[in-house]
Amino acid sequence: MRAMLLDGSRMPLRAAEVPEPEAGDGELLLRVRACAVCRTDLHIVDGELTRPKLPLVLGHMIVADVVGEDRRVGVPWLGWTDGDCRYCRAGLENLCDRAQFTGYDRDGGFAEYTVADERFCFPLPDTYAELDVAPLLCSGLIGFRALRFTGDAERLGLYGFGASAHIIVQVALHQGRRVFAFTRPGDAEGQAFARELGAEWAGGSDEAPPEELDAAIIFAPVGALVPVALRALAKAGSVVCAGIHMSDIPAFPYELLWGERVVRSVANLSRRDGEEFLALAPRVPVRVRLKSFGLEEANDAIDHLRRGEVQGSAVLHLRTSD
Ligand SMILES: [Zn+2]
Ligand SMILES: [Zn+2]
Repeated sequence: MRAMLLDGSRMPLRAAEVPEPEAGDGELLLRVRACAVCRTDLHIVDGELTRPKLPLVLGHMIVADVVGEDRRVGVPWLGWTDGDCRYCRAGLENLCDRAQFTGYDRDGGFAEYTVADERFCFPLPDTYAELDVAPLLCSGLIGFRALRFTGDAERLGLYGFGASAHIIVQVALHQGRRVFAFTRPGDAEGQAFARELGAEWAGGSDEAPPEELDAAIIFAPVGALVPVALRALAKAGSVVCAGIHMSDIPAFPYELLWGERVVRSVANLSRRDGEEFLALAPRVPVRVRLKSFGLEEANDAIDHLRRGEVQGSAVLHLRTSD
């Protein structure tokens, strides 16, 4: 089969012909239709996540057909857990000590075929074509987990308006929240995109919002945004850091945290997040803006994402629906 392989960090992916994988006990052999590209893939390629299996097939927003069956599934980042560590037993499987992640510890979806543990595959809503549903599997899902940690915050700030934020703004508005979007300073196009999707205000991350925020989600991997977002918060507000990697957070005066403000991270996803979000998305309904690439264009897709040139999501398209 055709696959795009990562041989080591800071190297471009290599187009290769490799044997089809074989499904083990409890696993499904999957023929990939589409796989969206995540900022996490950039962190893996760039060596900021330091322990990928090598060579590696990246990709953890996989839409695929089960070989030999008439059904379509989605494969997310959480690929396997032990089910019996203290976190799994406490309902926090996203924090499992021995978790394996798709497209990191296990081969992912930048290939014609992949295998996945059936227990971690999601049925997908029928109303979505493969390209449109792929970004929901991480950008949507982990964004949704981050949104949940903002509680009932009415005035929500989104820092970094990429794949996740363009989905979560739709969910937040559906829930009756008001959204304030922050892009890189001077990114007029990104700000227009945010307003088009319903943000009532959009500006650069160097600007103060027109009023205090009750919560903020930081999607950009920029630690310097943490004190910036704290400064925009009302008392008792939360800053939720949604990325898997972030540059160092600079020191800031305690006064910014005072007033029972909270800073927290969001790590991975649980299957419950997936079930809830995939049930909610068609009711919103979430509509994904995307740019599609062929499998062999995976390096282009990654570069586009890195340069912030994709409005919404970048998705590799391998095979059209029958
Ligand atoms: Zn991801
Ligand atoms: Zn566990």
